[in-house]
Amino acid sequence: MKALRTNPGLQLFEDPEALLTCNLDPYKVLCDPDLAKGTKPSMRTPSWNRCNPACANISRTDTHIQRAREQLAGLNADCAGPHLPHPIRRRLELCCASREKIIQTHEDAAGRTADRDST
Ligand code: SF4
Repeated sequence: MKALRTNPGLQLFEDPEALLTCNLDPYKVLCDPDLAKGTKPSMRTPSWNRCNPACANISRTDTHIQRAREQLAGLNADCAGPHLPHPIRRRLELCCASREKIIQTHEDAAGRTADRDST
């Protein structure tokens, strides 16, 4: 059990609401560059609130992509409101672009063509 808990290749963190699985290799962490220093391996956890989309620890499955599609559909529906204040509309558009990029990157990596109009 101790070997499993300290194996750096098996430090997986999943959140049912997240759009990724964090495969926590402390030497690649972008959310907390000091994580590998002085922290016991079993005590290392990712900082979700500072998750960096460029981190090499990110992995995604089709389940995450389905979540991204569902969020994108909701965001597009929210954007359709005619009386949205500009800052809120802009924020929603940026969230949409983020989800679209996640979906497209995943589909490209899987060798599939993302259906960009299916949202
Ligand atoms: S930046 Fe994100 S994926 Fe990378 S270690 Fe932190 S929480 Fe995990």
